[in-house]
Amino acid sequence: MVSRVYNYNPGPSTLPLEVLEIIQKELLDYRGTGMSIMEISHRSPEYDEINNQAISLVKNLMDLGDNYHVIFVGGGASTQFAHIPLNFLPEGKVAAYVDTGTWSAKAIKEAQNLGNVHLAASSKDKGYTYVPMADELDFPNDAVYLHLTSNNTIKGTQFHEFPNSGKVPLICDMSSDILSHQIDFNKFALFYAGAQKNLGPSGVTMVVLRDDMLERINDGLPTFFDYRTHTEKKSLFNTPPSFTIYVVKLILEWIKQQGGLKVVENNNKKKKDLIYNLIDANPDYFHAPVSENSRSWMNIVFRLFSEDMEQKFISEAKVAGLIGLKGHRSVGGIRVSLYNAMTLEGAEKVAEFMENFRRNN
Ligand SMILES: *Cc1c(COP(=O)(O)O)cnc(C)c1O
Repeated sequence: MVSRVYNYNPGPSTLPLEVLEIIQKELLDYRGTGMSIMEISHRSPEYDEINNQAISLVKNLMDLGDNYHVIFVGGGASTQFAHIPLNFLPEGKVAAYVDTGTWSAKAIKEAQNLGNVHLAASSKDKGYTYVPMADELDFPNDAVYLHLTSNNTIKGTQFHEFPNSGKVPLICDMSSDILSHQIDFNKFALFYAGAQKNLGPSGVTMVVLRDDMLERINDGLPTFFDYRTHTEKKSLFNTPPSFTIYVVKLILEWIKQQGGLKVVENNNKKKKDLIYNLIDANPDYFHAPVSENSRSWMNIVFRLFSEDMEQKFISEAKVAGLIGLKGHRSVGGIRVSLYNAMTLEGAEKVAEFMENFRRNN
């Protein structure tokens, strides 16, 4: 018997056991080819089917219109931080950004290297413990786009409502909450996610962009950095991270088989309620720094009354088979990541551990 722990790592993170078992089963002989999918050409019919299915599953699960393109590229979400201004921020124009923590700050830095940035809002004043309300954003109506980060993985905040940006294209980094709940994806001109939190293993980033954005792309970009290269070649301009995309496809099928985003959302709600309810019932013991209406469903951050106690919590949890609960080094404390692949049982385990720890300490 293989022994697996409860894995609350923030990314790369736990994958559904059912999916890992399919990978294992297909690893040496992918569907009668006598080869692993890792050993097959990205131009083969087998891979072509995977690529096509992944694209159509994304469109189906998100209820996207025909005017959207789904592409898979390497380089991580961090490459998109530069990719976006490179394509859509011309000289003499301004791009608007919402600053809600580490990842958005990195996106802003890349855009500033390439052009003019306007800060539409920032939650830095309160240590990024909230996200600005949709109607509090202030940006020029000729901004080339408005960029935000839907879930702030490190600080544990999440947008539960998106702004209506009017004519300004809305762009979003959804790396840590993509496909975790129902949202109107058709609201966005472009959104992207590194795979390693909710979509699969590391190594690929999914980018979804609306057709009209292709007409706005700056001229003279190197071929690889022009989004049109990837939309036109269906992510086959060069060798894609094919094994990772194969796993992403399996994850998308896994979501679909459960009944889609409605079911996933329902599960995620149950999971996060278990932990937040416990925190709220014991406010003198568990301190949640994030304001209530900005709480992330994916990354739950809390503190205990001393750093020594937090260390004790993390090391005792590890002994109990609960892994990856240490908060990000910039925040400290505890972080419980409850991505899609974390089971309800996994959320119950951590809640039970928290309750026992409180009683015993
Ligand atoms: C993890 C993360 C990133 C970075 O992703 P890479 O693929 O490592 O570049 C960017 N944005 C958010 C919100 C993240 O959680």
